[in-house]
Amino acid sequence: MRRNAGELEKMRRAGKVVAEMHEKTRAAIRPGITTMDLNKVAAEVIERRGAVSNFLGYHGFPAVICTSPNDMIVHGIPSDLVVLEEGDIISVDCGAIIEGYHGDAAYTAGVGEIDAASARLLEVTERSLFAGIEQLTKGNRLHEVGRAVQDVAEAAGFTVVREYVGHAIGTAMHEQPQVPNYWPGSPGPTLKTGMVFAVEPMVNAGTPETMTIEDGWGVITADGKRSAHFEHTIAVTDHGPEIFTLP
Ligand code: MG
Ligand code: MG
Repeated sequence: MRRNAGELEKMRRAGKVVAEMHEKTRAAIRPGITTMDLNKVAAEVIERRGAVSNFLGYHGFPAVICTSPNDMIVHGIPSDLVVLEEGDIISVDCGAIIEGYHGDAAYTAGVGEIDAASARLLEVTERSLFAGIEQLTKGNRLHEVGRAVQDVAEAAGFTVVREYVGHAIGTAMHEQPQVPNYWPGSPGPTLKTGMVFAVEPMVNAGTPETMTIEDGWGVITADGKRSAHFEHTIAVTDHGPEIFTLP
């Protein structure tokens, strides 16, 4: 689906709200804070900006952000019982709707000082996201995004998750086509100006295999090793990719 200039402007505004959710939650991350505290910070941004949450109520999801610590890959439910500790990593996935148009973006941050292996996992995952974003140019093929992500992650000795992928985004958060973080064996659709995608590599320190926890939401690594997640919402333009969710 190609979005017109008016639609892209609304998505730009939704992206700005998501970027502010990132800024404010990032600034709040420290040892002793709970993941529910981060949800409150994010909810305050949504309310103050007059936006609507696309996470709250999504298939029954009970919060405005996902908070996924350490070996949790994605979809963690914020909780008063999850207290962040020095040395943890925490993935925060945020979304917002402005006038019916969606933004979606995620980051992973360290809590206090983190070990070198975790810092490298974060750095490589974010770099894999930007390698994927560089592929979002008109005339290119969509699955080059996943090829680029996979190349960066695997060259560093990490693995990419297969079961969860990026997606087109617009008047719904999750639109077709999907955006795999690996080469799926075919080049995929040809990219055109006005297409908008959420690219979101999930990179694991160990096995790419995943498991879902008892609450039915949180997805963890099968081997208990750490995972990182970075995401932006990006439009294909005549002048290259435009990232809507940058601060
Ligand atoms: Mg997201
Ligand atoms: Mg997404």
